[in-house]
Amino acid sequence: RISAASQSAATSAATASSSVPSEMKAWSYSEYGGVDVLKLDTNVAVPEIKEDQVLIKVVAAALNPVDSKRRAGKFKATDSPLPTVPGYDVAGVVVKVGNQVKDLKEGDEVYADVSEKTLEGPKQFGSLGEYTAVEEKLLALKPHNIGFAEAASLPLALETAYEGLQRAAFSQGKSILVLGGAGGVGSLVIQLAKQVFGASKVAATASTGKLDFLKSLGVDLAIDYTKQNFEDLPDKFDLVFDTVGQGDRAIKVLKEGGSAVVLTGPAETPGFRFVITSTGETLKKLNPYLESGKLKAIVDPKGPFPFDKVSEAFSYLETGRATGKVVIYPI
Ligand code: NDP
Repeated sequence: RISAASQSAATSAATASSSVPSEMKAWSYSEYGGVDVLKLDTNVAVPEIKEDQVLIKVVAAALNPVDSKRRAGKFKATDSPLPTVPGYDVAGVVVKVGNQVKDLKEGDEVYADVSEKTLEGPKQFGSLGEYTAVEEKLLALKPHNIGFAEAASLPLALETAYEGLQRAAFSQGKSILVLGGAGGVGSLVIQLAKQVFGASKVAATASTGKLDFLKSLGVDLAIDYTKQNFEDLPDKFDLVFDTVGQGDRAIKVLKEGGSAVVLTGPAETPGFRFVITSTGETLKKLNPYLESGKLKAIVDPKGPFPFDKVSEAFSYLETGRATGKVVIYPI
């Protein structure tokens, strides 16, 4: 039998979880710079929600290279004002709902890239705090079979991978070379190309120790960039997806009529660059593939890093050697 005392303890716990404090813990910086400008503050105001937003109790977040570039001041001209709570990727629980929110309700488990435009006015209060306010249109329900840490690893990288393949009009029967196949974006481009777009052949580059990882993702040809220049191989591709900054080399291995998606560094025609726009629609579309296990979240085995180790997690991301995503959990 459940005692009255334990029942009342359970009730007060439930009340506490749905009541939102006015202040929270969050990582923030007040000036641009290296990892050392990041501070864990204990009294950051919990963001107010707008009518089209929900407030999320953050359970997990993930880091992206753009967080580091933004913190370094690379996008100063179009950034939101300082101080900044960084973080684009979030997974958590809805605790408050704006008046114009249609489909989400308190208690829903959701995930998103919280900033619609990555470089122009990204959220001042991102995902590296206990709470974050996010527009409904950026969110999707978390796939029921994966945890918060895995869900948080997906949004920005998965939406970038999908948007790039779509913009390049990649389709069934085509071949693709992924430069940087072991990284956050590359590991998802490989899986999407194979499992969702029906690629005839997927090749990817990585260093020696990561070739087996590439094969486990389904690549047909794993190229060790420490031993071989991909341009020297006989293989040509319909698409090269460059996550490394090798746009000049990418266009040398294209078939007639092929193209190259370039995420960083200069792009030469027929290669093109784009910047991801966050949308929950992509996550909703891909949820069935995540739920069937055809697409897998790749959380770097050095993590997940607990919330008080965000600086260490950024230092690790900034080595450029991460496998899949650097995740922060629990928050
Ligand atoms: P990651 O930090 O996850 O990439 C790390 C991976 O890169 C490692 O696994 C590493 O493998 C691999 N790598 C490094 N150098 C090479 C190389 N010469 N050849 C092959 N692989 C290499 O980064 P992301 O995947 O998150 O992002 C990649 C880039 O794309 C970043 O510059 C990011 O800012 C940009 N980006 C741009 C977006 C846009 O909208 N334009 C959106 C998202 C990302 P190894 O250890 O084997 O070298």
